[in-house]
Amino acid sequence: MLRRDCSARARYSRGVRGEFFYRPEMLSYDFGAGHPLNPERLRRAIALAEAEGIQVSVPPPATYDDLLRIHTRDYLEAVKRAGEGVPSPEHGLGYGDDPLFSDMHGASLWYVGGSAAAARAVCDGSPLAISLSGGLHHAMPERASGFCIYNDLAVAISLLRERFSRVAYIDIDVHHGDGVQWIFYDEPTVLTISIHESGRSLFPGTGFVGELGAEKTSLNIPVNAGTTGDVWLEAFRAIVPTAVRRFGAEAIVLQMGTDTHALDPIAHVNLAAQEWLEAVQEVRGLDLPTVACGGGGYNLRTVPRMWIAAALTLLDRDVPEGIPADVQSLLEVSAYLDADLPTPRRRGETAAEDAVRQLKESVEWLSVG
Ligand SMILES: [Zn+2]
Repeated sequence: MLRRDCSARARYSRGVRGEFFYRPEMLSYDFGAGHPLNPERLRRAIALAEAEGIQVSVPPPATYDDLLRIHTRDYLEAVKRAGEGVPSPEHGLGYGDDPLFSDMHGASLWYVGGSAAAARAVCDGSPLAISLSGGLHHAMPERASGFCIYNDLAVAISLLRERFSRVAYIDIDVHHGDGVQWIFYDEPTVLTISIHESGRSLFPGTGFVGELGAEKTSLNIPVNAGTTGDVWLEAFRAIVPTAVRRFGAEAIVLQMGTDTHALDPIAHVNLAAQEWLEAVQEVRGLDLPTVACGGGGYNLRTVPRMWIAAALTLLDRDVPEGIPADVQSLLEVSAYLDADLPTPRRRGETAAEDAVRQLKESVEWLSVG
């Protein structure tokens, strides 16, 4: 899986802390009207990024070889056929969360291309590269799952591993990052950490504390439905920074799902935007080369402002109070952060503290080398 192909291909400006990858073709990843993964999320986020003066770099599409780092040839062929209207039950294509749409394979190459370009930029020396399309953490080597066809995050990790000997994956989406976890479950050079709503109440039903991997390089912090941001953030802070440092990570892939927000329609954790953003700030504070991708989030009034607040934070720019006036009506909001924190506070405390207590032993086990 870890072939050498992390060549000097991406462009970035010297003196600028990071690159931000996007191209309009990414909007073609569209399961159709009524599907939660609405490309409008990305379109609005890019409008906000441009209003904030974030410079956009145009990535090439992913190559077949990029996909073959993670996925099987048989699966790629099934995705191509699915894009021509042929469902494939054994590959999860055309059912439930993942209905067919025209040229699914071609549309997917754009979002994987963004994450691959971000990984290559970081391999080439950029301290930060952002690609908000993608972050599709549920995709498996031979199966689509939970709106995710190809696992761009795993492709990015695989590319980073050619330049960096140890890579940490941090997933703050409300769903367990199962695809990335299982792909690298027995890989001692990749630490995966996911904080999410418990699999007892939310898809994909995994991500329990006991899923540790052969080398204890898989850490899961499940929190209960209803958990508030104060408790979520304490659990994140108790585990993630120490684990990444003890593991000796040289680079990070950050999955920035925003569906932890209290207003998200498909999950049940209660964060304000600013509480989620504190976790992004913690990752920034680790001061390691970082590939930051998007992820879940299904409320059009929360996703764009949270993603761009995260991008500004990672770029070492202040998050202004107000959304730029010229995009306020498009975004249907006027401020980045929430006026109020969800109440009552300290929901889910007992379960979160229990998970942290159990995980501390695994974090102690991690060490460089
Ligand atoms: Zn999610």
